[in-house]
Amino acid sequence: STAVPLTARSPEELTAFLAEQQAAHQALVAAGLTLDLTRGKPAAAQLDLAERLLSLPDGFRSRDGVDVRNYGGLEGIAELREMFAELLWVEPGQVVAGGSSSLVMMREVLVDLWLKGGVTSERPWSQEERVRFLCPVPGYDRHFTLLEWLGIEMVPVPSDEFGPDAEACAALVAEDPSIKGMWVVPTYANPTGSIVGDDVARRLASMPAAAPDFTILWDNAYAFHHLTEEEAASADILTLAAEAGNPHRPVMFASTSKITLAGAGVAFLAGSEEVVRWYLGHLGKGSIGPDKLNQLRHAQFFGSPAGVREHMARHREIIAPKFAEVLRVLDERLAGLGVASWTEPAGGYFISLDVLPGTAARVIELAKQAGVALTPAGSAFPYGQDPEDRNIRLAPTFPEPAEVTRATEVVATCALLAAAETLASGA
Ligand code: PMP
Repeated sequence: STAVPLTARSPEELTAFLAEQQAAHQALVAAGLTLDLTRGKPAAAQLDLAERLLSLPDGFRSRDGVDVRNYGGLEGIAELREMFAELLWVEPGQVVAGGSSSLVMMREVLVDLWLKGGVTSERPWSQEERVRFLCPVPGYDRHFTLLEWLGIEMVPVPSDEFGPDAEACAALVAEDPSIKGMWVVPTYANPTGSIVGDDVARRLASMPAAAPDFTILWDNAYAFHHLTEEEAASADILTLAAEAGNPHRPVMFASTSKITLAGAGVAFLAGSEEVVRWYLGHLGKGSIGPDKLNQLRHAQFFGSPAGVREHMARHREIIAPKFAEVLRVLDERLAGLGVASWTEPAGGYFISLDVLPGTAARVIELAKQAGVALTPAGSAFPYGQDPEDRNIRLAPTFPEPAEVTRATEVVATCALLAAAETLASGA
């Protein structure tokens, strides 16, 4: 029966199982599919939810009477900053509304730290002998490639359903002044869906750091992206850090990329008022102001913080069934066989699948042969190196529901085939 773990099967049974999976895989290859589970992109139906944006703004004056068509207002328009300040649990004066990409803001912050140093730095990071970052794994590949590009060394730290291993972080940060910062995706992390609890957040905000300018890049890209009716609230990192005497430690990011339009949303940065001033001071060397027209149409489109939450419920109706379908197929095909485990996220854009150690790259190769594109093995780890070669990130939002089913079936068959190959060879 399928409930007997592969590792408990006799060599004869394994050989037969291997032959079955090879046949199943060959049939999939012959079917000539072209499916893609690689990137966390909204589906067209989700983008359609924001269609009214295309006929906004109504007029061209912000609440303060500012003509949003013109230059100026580097920090963004007040009504949108206020709306997202409330949603992100910060004060309006602690928020900047910027362009369409929060990833750009992250790069700007890191480049500013590198060239100029931060509010609490003794010197620019580029003048330090060595600059390192803690990277909870598995994590977001673009965070890692950004650090690699800057020449910042990455130190992987484990994470679980409550976020990064705070004790491991605290031990490293206390000892080593070269550790200048860390990434945290606090709510529905990419790719695990983990939620940073208050205890972990408090520890990270308060832990003594050898580097005076230790910085937490708190990337709340999925703060409002709930997959269930239970809406997890992100820890209030700015307040926790301020209470602990480290007010300038966190820099928070968020955007409407996966709320309105991924290519034309509004991104936000939040931090202490000093951090905001520092960021704007550097930003102002290259910008006379953001796209306030886009900000105004977003403010009008949502109307209020509640409008954002209501809009996210429409997204949930579209994507929750796709997540449920991936989980159904994985459960049906892989449960009880002892070769895979996976996350069941309550929000965000990803499911993190762990296959038999040593087989992730093989699974991805087999899936490619069967026409299913998956993110390259190791993507969720610094330098692309998954030490156990077992993690695969699944992104089910973009394909049509029927394609999600088909693609997940392919992934399951490939996971079984790769496991059977390994176990049958006695490796
Ligand atoms: N952070 C995380 C964790 C993400 O998953 C993504 C999108 N994949 C981004 C940032 C990108 O955000 P933006 O579109 O605002 O640049």
